[in-house]
Amino acid sequence: MRKLAAGNWKMNGTSADLAAVRAVAEAAPGGIDVLLALPATLLDRARDAGVALAGQDCHAAAKGAHTGDLAAAMLADAGATAVILGHSERRADHGETDDAIRAKAEAAVAAGLAPVICVGETLDQREGGRALDVVGAQLAGSVPDRAPGLVVAYEPVWAIGTGRVPTPDQIAEVHAFLAGRVPAGTRLLYGGSVKGSNAAEIFAVPHVHGALVGGASLKPGDFAPIMQALA
Ligand code: PGA
Repeated sequence: MRKLAAGNWKMNGTSADLAAVRAVAEAAPGGIDVLLALPATLLDRARDAGVALAGQDCHAAAKGAHTGDLAAAMLADAGATAVILGHSERRADHGETDDAIRAKAEAAVAAGLAPVICVGETLDQREGGRALDVVGAQLAGSVPDRAPGLVVAYEPVWAIGTGRVPTPDQIAEVHAFLAGRVPAGTRLLYGGSVKGSNAAEIFAVPHVHGALVGGASLKPGDFAPIMQALA
């Protein structure tokens, strides 16, 4: 399976950062896929930078009276080929449920975007021995029946932006579990405090086909070693 290095810029980036998008494109090694989930305001302006682009969310409706929201077709029109859905920050900040995420994913598929669906347990859930139950329920609830190009990102909530990373055995357990439950050909990314210094160890875990990278995707100098570790 072709490996995927995906960067999630979250609510970061203005026109001054378009040079960083171009630098990532230039640093991208051959043989792997690279995807940058930019803020929607930068998508159209980055479409010729030489790297595949993703949105970070979309609405489930095709258009209409939804002030402040974006339809999947708008992201596609702005240059995106994929969209992150169900990130834990959206689940927490906006109360997104698995049902809502599945509806968004169906809209993304209808607009020709590959859905990158995030699942992951909280620290309480892990310490309560429920990590697999939680990610299994999220997966079953949020992935549509038909999802060409589907990518699933395992992002333990307690590892996001914290510098804490699960052990390779913990990642292996969840990824093996997910691998048995996703359609053939689905790429499984690990996300949560991935850095150049830990990327090789994470990428050596079975069923890890790449990473979804937040903080370390903002600077090309931080993202390049992660891309290299995957190549
Ligand atoms: P992080 O974020 O790499 O900054 O931990 C990952 C993510 O939220 O996708």
